[in-house]
Amino acid sequence: MTGVPSAVGRRPERIATLVVGGGLLGCAVSYLLAAAGTEVLLVDKGQLNAQASGQNAGSLHFQLEYRMLENGALAARKAAEAMPLHLHALRAWSRLEAELGADLGVRQQGGLMVAESAEQVRRLGRKIALEQAAGLQTELLDRSAVRARAPYLGAAVVAAAFCPAEGKADPRRCALAYARAALRLGAQVHARTGVQALCRNGRRWRVVFDDGGVCHAEQVVLAAGAWTGRLAQMAGSVLPVFPVGLTMAVTAPAAPLVTHLVQHAGRRLSLKQTPEGNVLIGGGWPAALRQTGAWVDLDRRPQLLLPSLSGNMAAAVAVVPAVAQLPVLRVWTGTTALVADQLPLLGAVPKAAGLFVATGGSAFTLAPTYARILADKLLGKPDAFDLRAYDPERFASLTLA
Ligand SMILES: Cc1cc2nc3c(=O)[nH]c(=O)nc-3n(C[C@H](O)[C@H](O)[C@H](O)COP(=O)(O)OP(=O)(O)OC[C@H]3O[C@@H](n4cnc5c(N)ncnc54)[C@H](O)[C@@H]3O)c2cc1C
Repeated sequence: MTGVPSAVGRRPERIATLVVGGGLLGCAVSYLLAAAGTEVLLVDKGQLNAQASGQNAGSLHFQLEYRMLENGALAARKAAEAMPLHLHALRAWSRLEAELGADLGVRQQGGLMVAESAEQVRRLGRKIALEQAAGLQTELLDRSAVRARAPYLGAAVVAAAFCPAEGKADPRRCALAYARAALRLGAQVHARTGVQALCRNGRRWRVVFDDGGVCHAEQVVLAAGAWTGRLAQMAGSVLPVFPVGLTMAVTAPAAPLVTHLVQHAGRRLSLKQTPEGNVLIGGGWPAALRQTGAWVDLDRRPQLLLPSLSGNMAAAVAVVPAVAQLPVLRVWTGTTALVADQLPLLGAVPKAAGLFVATGGSAFTLAPTYARILADKLLGKPDAFDLRAYDPERFASLTLA
């Protein structure tokens, strides 16, 4: 099936669960709720998969990322506490194409986090110890082992951490495949349906849409990515979710060259080759959020920063020199959502009965897991993980109500 799933029939005025946000998280939660036989309405103010979930690098990274290592050993240890989620996600991705009956471009051919200096090699060693203790299969490869496994890497690479389960998926397809599967199972999906107001009305949430229409929902899921903090405010809650602008580039297609997901232990870099041959380059280089008047305008794409682009390219060429020969086809920016403590925000919103949230962290890689966790909560099932570190309750003091 092709095309973007869209509205079928009239929008209901009463629903068991309303999911706000048609990115990967909202589509995945809707699918799981529909699969469990519950009534669900998924809405997006624009088109499905048009924001972070469709614009990202598609990396499935289960090793600790550079952003988790760059802030010191304590921060890395904290991030490693989320390893049970990584382990769940790596298995979930390996089954997802069969489960959804769709080609999602999933390739788990292994990931390398490379080092160019002795200090970075020591950092990799500490990182691998944390990962192995938490049950993730990773190993340190020395220069000759790296060369044997990845001959396309440049001479500057002196070692790498290798994780066999890492890889990539196609961000253009994943959320839409979840949405189609949700539709098949009876979910209702309405694009171009923005939520403008949310308030508790007795045992239900009264939701007002941009077109003035109203719906009453027993439960509401906020899966609105960078907009999640604003949605929470509509509901009278304060959640510390912040928008962050990021930069991406893609080269023209080339013959098969890069077989792994490549990341770096000391620089911002993620690099992979798509099945079509394009090399996707990103890794956390900032883009500037736009302002309209005094306010950050999340509805406009962030502004490209040339130093980000040149820094990203320099890192890519240092690690995979053949990339220097490939013309850059397209450069773009996107906005992701980070939580104040960089951990996921997952579960019931405090002081707001029936309101749930899922955002933060590497929410492409971890989307199948976040969705499972949240769906279990909505369905009243017991938690499969210790979720205390991600519980929105940790920010309860911000909401004075
Ligand atoms: C450039 C870039 C590269 C990235 N690379 C990776 C990567 O390689 N691996 C990884 O794991 N993660 C990566 N990420 C992060 C990842 O893309 C996101 O964490 C993930 O896609 C978040 O999905 P989401 O469903 O929460 O949000 P989104 O995909 O942003 O979806 C939120 C949706 O909510 C809708 N919405 C907002 N407000 C309203 C409203 N009032 N009413 C109705 N709908 C509303 C929006 O229109 C949007 O469609 C990257 C992000 C970016 C920007």
